[in-house]
Amino acid sequence: MANYKTCKECSSPLFDDDIAIFRKLIFRGAEEFACIDCLAKNLGCTRDAIEKLIAYYRESGKCTLFR
Ligand SMILES: [Zn+2]
Repeated sequence: MANYKTCKECSSPLFDDDIAIFRKLIFRGAEEFACIDCLAKNLGCTRDAIEKLIAYYRESGKCTLFR
């Protein structure tokens, strides 16, 4: 039905950044993803920390997942 991805845990719609950071932190070839909130919970860190990481990778321009 919907062709956007959803979080495998809470089913909320995912944005490109959510998918990119999941691939970066968990598994590059992932087919199922978690939203930033669930990812933070799983990693035991805050949503804020993940958003900072996203900003970091985006600004560094080095990671091909963030373009
Ligand atoms: Zn979620």
